[in-house]
Amino acid sequence: MFTHAQHALPDTSYDVVIIGAGRMGLAAAFYLRRLQVGARVLIAERGGIPSEDGATLHAPGVWHRQGLPAAWAARAAWVRHLWANPEVETGTARPHDPPFIACGHAHLHFTDEPATPPPAGLRTFTPETFLASLCAPAREQVQTLVDWPSVVAVTFDPLGGVGSGSTLALSYGYAAVRLGADLALNTEARLTPGGVTLRRLDVTNTHQIVVAREEQVRAPVVIVAAGADSMTLLEHDLGVIRRHGRAYAQYPQLEVPPAPGLPALAAQGFTVRPAASYLRVLPPVQGADPHGYAPVGGRLMGVPVGTRREVLDAMLPHLEPLPALMHDRLNLGKAVPDVPGAWEARPVGGWPLHERVADGVHLLLGGPGADQVGPSVAYDLAATLADDDARPWVDP
Ligand code: ADP
Repeated sequence: MFTHAQHALPDTSYDVVIIGAGRMGLAAAFYLRRLQVGARVLIAERGGIPSEDGATLHAPGVWHRQGLPAAWAARAAWVRHLWANPEVETGTARPHDPPFIACGHAHLHFTDEPATPPPAGLRTFTPETFLASLCAPAREQVQTLVDWPSVVAVTFDPLGGVGSGSTLALSYGYAAVRLGADLALNTEARLTPGGVTLRRLDVTNTHQIVVAREEQVRAPVVIVAAGADSMTLLEHDLGVIRRHGRAYAQYPQLEVPPAPGLPALAAQGFTVRPAASYLRVLPPVQGADPHGYAPVGGRLMGVPVGTRREVLDAMLPHLEPLPALMHDRLNLGKAVPDVPGAWEARPVGGWPLHERVADGVHLLLGGPGADQVGPSVAYDLAATLADDDARPWVDP
């Protein structure tokens, strides 16, 4: 069931408590309940679902196989199926949800980029053949976004596509609750010996966040799926230090409607992807930020903008090859909150992972590869805890 600060928790002892209702925590809750029907599972989330601060709400939502190591191929294929058919896995049919748009994912190689052989299932095209393969409206739009004379080759993943990461996470969340998991919103968790302490948060009529009540919950297993905050939580509460990083990513919007058939375009570390009524620009993530870093807006021609300075600096050398970045309808925001952005975890090795960090405490991190393989890693942890080796992506 869902519980808010005004309700007492249904129980004070669980088999597993999951801290964080992002895409990773919710998927783990769902698979735990599915693989171990009797497991008593509580998910504690500081905000709502999807949380405004978490990576899930702002995840790029781009699935493709460019740069995917062979070892992840079968998992990625399974997750692709999930993106396209979330109801098959979770049983949650939500007809109003934005669909997965599978118009492909194109990686554009520029003159100074060494050509690498494409991964299995992907083909490399000349720019001319690639452009000719697009339908007229998409071709016209693509021509305005990129300086084509500088492009030497295009690696295209026809199975690639874009979807909403928070929709997928919500499907997992509803399905987990329907299968019997408890979900406590506005509930901040701290690790304590033998379980967690929960601070149930409420808002006063003067908009101040207060702790409405504090509750102790016993659990032999705790999964820390708190995204970028996970490492601080482990360090403060357990004295365990992990070397995973975190970074703040910002996503300016190009206020032009996507042409039908437009694929996601990746070039020079940037991705431009179609969204509902605009194009989303995903700049390269600027390395791990030190703890305590607060993003501040940058300035453009002396005028303050909400896009932070590091992102603007990253854009400058690419303005010529990628005219999309100097498009007059690129919305850089007037203030930092106007440009969607989020802290996200940067797992060492770059791919989502789970690891046991102490007796009965597991870390579950999404990060940049979560769109491609995240749910399979959440499944793995659930299966490990449920002691079931029947992973759906293992080829017979
Ligand atoms: P991931 O992609 O790994 O799922 P997210 O950032 O989307 O990561 O999700 C992490 C979630 O954990 C966020 O919704 C955030 O609000 C929540 N969270 C972080 N710290 C705590 C905490 N101490 N207690 C409860 N929830 C937390």
